[in-house]
Amino acid sequence: MPLLEGKNALIFGVANHRSIAWAIAQALAGEGAHLALAYQERMEKYVRDLAGKIPGTDVVQCDVQQDNELDAAFAHTSEIFGGKLDILIHCVAYAPPSELENPFLETSRAGFQTALDISAYSLIAMARRAAPLMKDNGGSMLALTYMASERVMPKYNVMAVAKAALECSVRYLAFELGEHNIRVNAISAGPLNTLAARGVSGFTGFRDQVANVAPLRRNIEQSEVGDTALFLSSPLARGITGEILFVDAGYNIMGV
Ligand code: NAD
Repeated sequence: MPLLEGKNALIFGVANHRSIAWAIAQALAGEGAHLALAYQERMEKYVRDLAGKIPGTDVVQCDVQQDNELDAAFAHTSEIFGGKLDILIHCVAYAPPSELENPFLETSRAGFQTALDISAYSLIAMARRAAPLMKDNGGSMLALTYMASERVMPKYNVMAVAKAALECSVRYLAFELGEHNIRVNAISAGPLNTLAARGVSGFTGFRDQVANVAPLRRNIEQSEVGDTALFLSSPLARGITGEILFVDAGYNIMGV
């Protein structure tokens, strides 16, 4: 039987075919999950086109900064999934471009608030709405993070602070939701060429560095994150929660 037969998954963060969320969607659907994709308004056309490639996939618009849109998205999801959600995927991040160009010292209050709101608070906002739909059967929540939360990656700036907040939120949510058999984890992915990543200047240099230094001597691909997300979302990972799992060709273990 497919690993996720009968499971319902709500995925935030598909923008185009390069999105990590799209790789995760394909991996989950490949094991039988029924999907709903929540998209930001400006991505609608791409997301509808992609959703059409996986039969039975629903789409719902949601800007994660808007509580009313989050409420509506989860209400819609509950309706199409008959009140039962098993898997929540958070692949959402944003910082104003100037915050990724200027020195970190120049981080503005408004830029800090926007980056933390969209990239970290949104996980809490989603989890609060997803938990009631998971309480009867348990569930899995998964976010995407980056090693810049722990070590300095030049120009990642306020996004690194947001990732640190996101990872900490994963642990607190895992603690509170564990009693309902809801697991909360994150994947810390190596650098991938996506829309969001292209906003970080020097990003190509990160990829070159990984290829030279990582134990596997190469970069990762979106599908490798998708497969790990599948594992963490499945019963195979039933004993894992509050974990930040690296999918980075081993780069994080290196000291040089
Ligand atoms: P992406 O650009 O494909 O995805 C980012 C998504 O965030 C987009 O779908 C965008 O619409 C969405 N988004 C931004 N603001 C939003 C808002 N207000 N409301 C709703 N959605 C909003 O890029 P990606 O690299 O696939 O990013 C997915 C996740 O993976 C992010 O959390 C990112 O930080 C993380 N990540 C990426 C890399 C990488 O190198 N690409 C590495 C580690 C972690």
